[in-house]
Amino acid sequence: MTTYVSLWRDVLFQLISSKKRVLVKGVMSFVLSFSFFGLHASAADSDELQNPLLYAIAWRQTAAEYRALYYQGFALARLRVEEALARGSRNGRPLAVISDVDETMLLSNAYWGELIASGRDFFDDATWDEWVPKNEFVASPGAREFVEFCEEEGVRVFFVTNRDQGEKTFDFALENLRAAGFGNVEPADLRVLRETSNKESVQQQIRADYDVIVSLGDNLNDFARRYYVTDVEERAALMHEDASHFGGDYIVFPNPTDGHWIRAIFGESEPASSDANRQTLRSAAIGR
Ligand SMILES: [Mg+2]
Repeated sequence: MTTYVSLWRDVLFQLISSKKRVLVKGVMSFVLSFSFFGLHASAADSDELQNPLLYAIAWRQTAAEYRALYYQGFALARLRVEEALARGSRNGRPLAVISDVDETMLLSNAYWGELIASGRDFFDDATWDEWVPKNEFVASPGAREFVEFCEEEGVRVFFVTNRDQGEKTFDFALENLRAAGFGNVEPADLRVLRETSNKESVQQQIRADYDVIVSLGDNLNDFARRYYVTDVEERAALMHEDASHFGGDYIVFPNPTDGHWIRAIFGESEPASSDANRQTLRSAAIGR
């Protein structure tokens, strides 16, 4: 639409004298800015403009810094893999990487945008389950390059996720990865936990057969289950105890909208949209 407006403005300018052009330009700018403002003002009612997700999702949708953090994480992961290749296996087993899927390898920012556009202000499991099979995830910046590097070097990458979209959960996850450009992912590379978010048994199975160089995730639960506590301070204290792991064998990616940090605030990972929970969120933001 902007292109057509620009075209007509240029044609008009050719037909009038230069003195009048300044006036016409001013009037058109006023009309256009008014229309622009009007469109946006009518797009959401005042409740929707109070949506507590807006800042976090705007950051995920627009911030170059958000994307840069993925490059940074995968650069560090690659460095750890290169070190391992130079060092060789520590236990005689093949080298491997364990990665989470959602918000580590795949980004779902479009879902969160749609969630806000539909007037919701908390994660909604039903709309998520409808969105997953659409294959609209995109690879996080640097993810495919990192996986390709591992493939070239003979380092196996395991994708471990806890998701539940029913019987087809595994197929959806595999398709999501392939559609986002992870074309070489085989079913044996993917582990899907439907019944629990506890990844430890799968991680232990992989460690029994491989020398795991690094774990990648956006949730501390992707590294160890001991962080699965519902107290904010306790969770932070456990993380501080493990400080030396971060950037070493634990590489964390950003997620300001979901994960067990939410559970630590609300007592559950998917809190309902309610005033009581908005109050809880406000208290967490204030710090008391
Ligand atoms: Mg995740």
